[in-house]
Amino acid sequence: MKIVKTIEEVRAAVKAWRKEGLTVGLVPTMGYLHEGHASLIDASVKDNDRTVVSDFVNPMQFGPTEDLESYPRDLDRDAALAEAHGADLIFNPEPAEMYHEGFSSFVDMTVLTQELCGLSRPVHFRGVCTVVSKLFNIVTPDRAYFGKKDAQQLAVIRHMVDDLNMPLEIIGCPIIREEDGLAKSSRNTYLNADERKAALVLSQAIKLGSELVKNGETDAAKVTGAMKAHIEAEPLAKIDYVKLVDAATMQQIPVIDRPALCAIAVYIGKTRLIDNFFTEDVK
Ligand code: AMP
Repeated sequence: MKIVKTIEEVRAAVKAWRKEGLTVGLVPTMGYLHEGHASLIDASVKDNDRTVVSDFVNPMQFGPTEDLESYPRDLDRDAALAEAHGADLIFNPEPAEMYHEGFSSFVDMTVLTQELCGLSRPVHFRGVCTVVSKLFNIVTPDRAYFGKKDAQQLAVIRHMVDDLNMPLEIIGCPIIREEDGLAKSSRNTYLNADERKAALVLSQAIKLGSELVKNGETDAAKVTGAMKAHIEAEPLAKIDYVKLVDAATMQQIPVIDRPALCAIAVYIGKTRLIDNFFTEDVK
């Protein structure tokens, strides 16, 4: 496996693979890889001849008061994990390689980004859409892999690819959890011991909500109400949102009468964590 820092090196590697007629999968990440990322690499290695992992903490998707500086980074550890799972190339650019002086083009989206995380993180999805478009143009993958952990991001990327006729397939992969249920996240490293325990309210609320839906509850307010009550009982937790939305448009729905996403964002101390379930996955 090779680690490269420039766009030119990625292009050269992909060009050589294409000459051999090989297919290419892309796994976009911000690094500090864990088993969630590994599951995406596994899926790509299974489906494609070659797999590129991008490892880039994208400044453009962080708001001014967010955790860009403190976001955990460890390229050696990432390289070991990616190689063990069969990746062929890590693309680890410096911000200046991705955003040269005078950079002024953005990929933006309406509707889908104006709900859920888009409300509390106003510049986030513009940064995600822009960097993912750039990665698609640099790597030109046949398939790209995204986790359902970031369900709104997955929906936004699918929509972008459809709107802009990008010639690749988007694959969504299941959420990987710790043994006690907490969804794996690079941000879990911010939690102290008490917060780590308190963070379990997220996955517990997801379980509670998904069981209600599984048992036939279709009133969105009843599902989100029960989940909110569970989270609010934890003193270290502060709800950002608990919502049920149309899985395709991300707009809130009062009745679960179509494929829906139940998504939550909760602060545990200063750390903002997310979790979710798709109603189609629990029925
Ligand atoms: P990140 O490095 O957090 O930006 O995540 C990179 C990719 O890994 C995204 O597509 C995430 O949805 C995915 N991912 C992160 N955590 C998990 C998880 N626990 N299970 C599945 N996919 C995940």
